[in-house]
Amino acid sequence: MFWDQESETLTRPTIEQLQLKRLQNTVERVAQRVPFYRDKFTKLGIVPADIKSLADVRLLPFTTGADLRTIYPEGMLAVDRDEPVRLHTSSGTTGKPKAIFFSRKDVENAAELVARSLVMTGITRKDVLQNMMSYGLFTGGLVMHYGAEKVGCLVIPSGPGTSERQLMLMQDLRSTAVHILPSYALYFASFLEHKGIDPRKDLSVRKAFVGAEPHTEETRRRIEQIFGCDVYNSYGLTEMNGPGTAFECEHKAGMHLWEDNFILEIINPATGEPLPEGQTGELVMTTLNREAMPILRYRTRDITSVIPGPCKCGRTHRRIARFTGRSDDMLIIRGVNIFPQQIERVLMSFQQVGRNYVIIVEGLDDLTVRVELAAAGFDGQVEHVAALQKQLVEKLKAETYVRPKVDLLPAGSLPVAEGKAKRVIDKRSL
Ligand code: ADP
Ligand code: ZN
Repeated sequence: MFWDQESETLTRPTIEQLQLKRLQNTVERVAQRVPFYRDKFTKLGIVPADIKSLADVRLLPFTTGADLRTIYPEGMLAVDRDEPVRLHTSSGTTGKPKAIFFSRKDVENAAELVARSLVMTGITRKDVLQNMMSYGLFTGGLVMHYGAEKVGCLVIPSGPGTSERQLMLMQDLRSTAVHILPSYALYFASFLEHKGIDPRKDLSVRKAFVGAEPHTEETRRRIEQIFGCDVYNSYGLTEMNGPGTAFECEHKAGMHLWEDNFILEIINPATGEPLPEGQTGELVMTTLNREAMPILRYRTRDITSVIPGPCKCGRTHRRIARFTGRSDDMLIIRGVNIFPQQIERVLMSFQQVGRNYVIIVEGLDDLTVRVELAAAGFDGQVEHVAALQKQLVEKLKAETYVRPKVDLLPAGSLPVAEGKAKRVIDKRSL
């Protein structure tokens, strides 16, 4: 099923021609209208006419999160101040947010990409989508909402409300699909279990769109098993519109990144050099269809690779692999590089392990993993807990090359975040 079959199945040469034309156009506009980029071009000694082929994208400067904070709030607008109709921000944890402005055309276009994304998983106007992501400055609410409305779904803007309320709406309106944070999906599952509700029998949810924070294939499988639904990985970042940047199709084999809207590069984060197709590195994106606030070569800090070869669905936009982490999430413990996802993968492969965990690094690089036990299916006998703890330490050691301390806690004892889960507490940097 396609939302916009023509755009989604453009031949490779056509995509590339379109990308070049749109890139040239974007570079021309920012050179004229955005002093931030004009100055960078002057420093690099480049002019828009230097962009003669797609490979010339490499001549352009990178844009970083720090740049967006420097020009906050509106130093990168390529239109007059009264042109934008919407603002979203990317939270970040410290300092000023990154503000992204949308013109009417940008809002429309963002909804279009979400519509393509939803339809490629089989969503139709018959679906009832409960959007459990936060509405407001975060894109997960409104951008997903308007895309799903465009498809014709009934959209329930439930936001991150209480679990009681989510459940009531889900049952009364027979929600068939949810848009949800993976950490919240696991938490919500415990809530349902506690209420004696079997999501497979008592709910109508058949699809879940899960994203906005890193999660592993093991977590996807867990959510699928608990809810008896298909879980699709959804990648979005505010700087690139939010949801609908890249999304899995029905085959769930990597996320199609909409290349008629974004140029995708994978670089070595240390050197900034492009990597050959298939290698893992930092995703860098350039907007090709942005009116209010075009962004060149944005350093996402997200680590992935391009999946080579065509997808069975017939879409020609290349796919990116599940993220192995965010380069700024990487922990260096006793000289070893560790991504929190490696730890999650191990934890979630144990049935006796529950749904919430936190990783603590402190002192002289001491790694502690605090994890809840499963509420059901584990007897909690002292010797069984001790055996599980030992197994976890060994498995984690094999995966990360660092021997952690493992604290097993009763289900429900770790705090649950309002928005995205905070999985790592690095006390060394405090
Ligand atoms: P922030 O988290 O900085 O407030 P955003 O709300 O714009 O900013 O979130 C974008 C970030 O969320 C991405 O850069 C990425 O790190 C993470 N993210 C979004 N979707 C996914 C996904 N499906 N898998 C892993 N990480 C994701
Ligand atoms: Zn596909």
